[in-house]
Amino acid sequence: MKKLVVVICFLLLFTGCLSAAKTNAPVPPVDPGVIVDNPAPQDEKPDDSVPVDPAPNGQEEIDLAAVRPNELGKVMVLMYHEVGNKEDTWARHKDNFRRDMETLYTEGYRPVNLNDYLAGNIDLPAGTTPFILTFDDGTAGQFRLVEVNGELVVDPDSAVGILIDLNKKYPDFKLAGTFYIYYPLPFRQKEYIRQKLETLISLGFEIGNHTYNHENLGKVSMEEGIRALARHVKTTEEYLPGYKVNTLALPYGVRPREDSHLLYGEWEGISYVNNAVLLVGANPAFSPFDNRFNPSKLPRIRADEVELYRWLAYFTNNPDERFISDGNPDIVTVPATVESRLDLSKLDNLELRVYDLSLLSD
Ligand SMILES: [Zn+2]
Repeated sequence: MKKLVVVICFLLLFTGCLSAAKTNAPVPPVDPGVIVDNPAPQDEKPDDSVPVDPAPNGQEEIDLAAVRPNELGKVMVLMYHEVGNKEDTWARHKDNFRRDMETLYTEGYRPVNLNDYLAGNIDLPAGTTPFILTFDDGTAGQFRLVEVNGELVVDPDSAVGILIDLNKKYPDFKLAGTFYIYYPLPFRQKEYIRQKLETLISLGFEIGNHTYNHENLGKVSMEEGIRALARHVKTTEEYLPGYKVNTLALPYGVRPREDSHLLYGEWEGISYVNNAVLLVGANPAFSPFDNRFNPSKLPRIRADEVELYRWLAYFTNNPDERFISDGNPDIVTVPATVESRLDLSKLDNLELRVYDLSLLSD
């Protein structure tokens, strides 16, 4: 474990620290066309020598006092179900979905993939906050292909189409999110199942386990539960050779009393491992570097008009609780006031930078 603890005591040292950090410059715009064609944009490491500095004064170097990075802050894992033409408990109107994403972007939130969050691989511009998109049930409005002039294209009104559009508009709004589908008919277009799953992965999204056929894991036996989880993994791998589903969203949010098989199991030679088990409710999740982080019971926020905007307001009113990136995925930066909550085992190859805001001059 490489640990570099830097407690910044006075401005001179602070300046020295910054000069040791990589030089910042505005991010050159990415050609949006590249994103769609890229086989795995989430794995493509952007040049982290040029993080965006969102500081209002446009200065080029990260000013800790202005950016106030806090990589022990909380992270919202958003949960969507249907996205389409209606709005109710389990459905978000497509216009509202777009507004949700626009609002998140404007307020400094950027999507990251669940597996990157779990691994502590947060590669975002300085001053921004990660959030995680999850979509349950593989509904039609989440991802639809339509024919236009004889060519098959992503329906711009489906959630994936809206995300692609936002990614073109804002290059640092990466395509990321996990689709918790079930079988036999994810996204409800039987002629395009394979094509859609391949497209999602190539765009940078993830597929997650939601059991094979939306089994209620609280109502079936453990053996049936294991089978339901393994069959999903098996079927996904048949469509996507080599792809390992490794996170689980509980159907109906129901957790069985005996739950050891949620994290790993085996059925007829098919084994599975779930690095996270996602709940249905109802609050932000801890930073992956926080010693209270528990991916086996990861809370999600229902992304509707009430809950999403309530939590956005909460973080506006409690900015110290929000995860704020330092712009460098190789460094974990935390204020000294919360340092005791660090899970040092998660740092691995990452450097730790602790700063004392009270000792920095504004
Ligand atoms: Zn479901």
